[in-house]
Amino acid sequence: MKLICIGRNYAAHIEELANERPEEPVVFIKPDSSILPKEQDFYIPEFSNNIHYEVEVLVKIKKVGKHIDKKFANKYYDEVGLGIDFTARDLQSKLKEKGLPWEKAKGFDGAAVVGNWIDKSIFKDIDQLDFSLIKNGVEVQKGNTSLMLWKIDELVSYVSTYFTLKKGDVIFTGTPAGVGKIEANDYLSGILEAQELFTVKIK
Ligand code: ZN
Repeated sequence: MKLICIGRNYAAHIEELANERPEEPVVFIKPDSSILPKEQDFYIPEFSNNIHYEVEVLVKIKKVGKHIDKKFANKYYDEVGLGIDFTARDLQSKLKEKGLPWEKAKGFDGAAVVGNWIDKSIFKDIDQLDFSLIKNGVEVQKGNTSLMLWKIDELVSYVSTYFTLKKGDVIFTGTPAGVGKIEANDYLSGILEAQELFTVKIK
């Protein structure tokens, strides 16, 4: 399976990193080896002094699809969730400066937290979901899927024009503003519509 990630999908986050607003979604892939095993702590890797959390809404693909039309995109997923796209920001900045791929900064072991899944049918509108990240008891990121530049169905359609989507693939839909550095002993938890979908301890 693959993790397909969207960058720069919330205007306020584009501003906080002083990035250019993209004309099309920014897409990158994390390998399946980047998934942090459930119940395992996240160890800050030695190659970075600035690991950032990015809380993101996730979508789990349920069947094979390619060139999916936006109006049928909702037939390709039943479950939504929440996760973290951990990013070695110092390494990413160096790679960005040189115009090089971001994989080392985004795809390292443990860089993808995938929380519990919720059947989308319990939500009235998946384009109106509140979510947040709590660090050591304090809310540090807060978003709503209505603020996405490209909504979930548009993203499913868009990425399927480049990559065949397969059952079990996960789309990370981008992070809202408020990204920041983690330190050893931090405790993170992710909340989607008042439900806690993951917790992570930083080592
Ligand atoms: Zn991200």
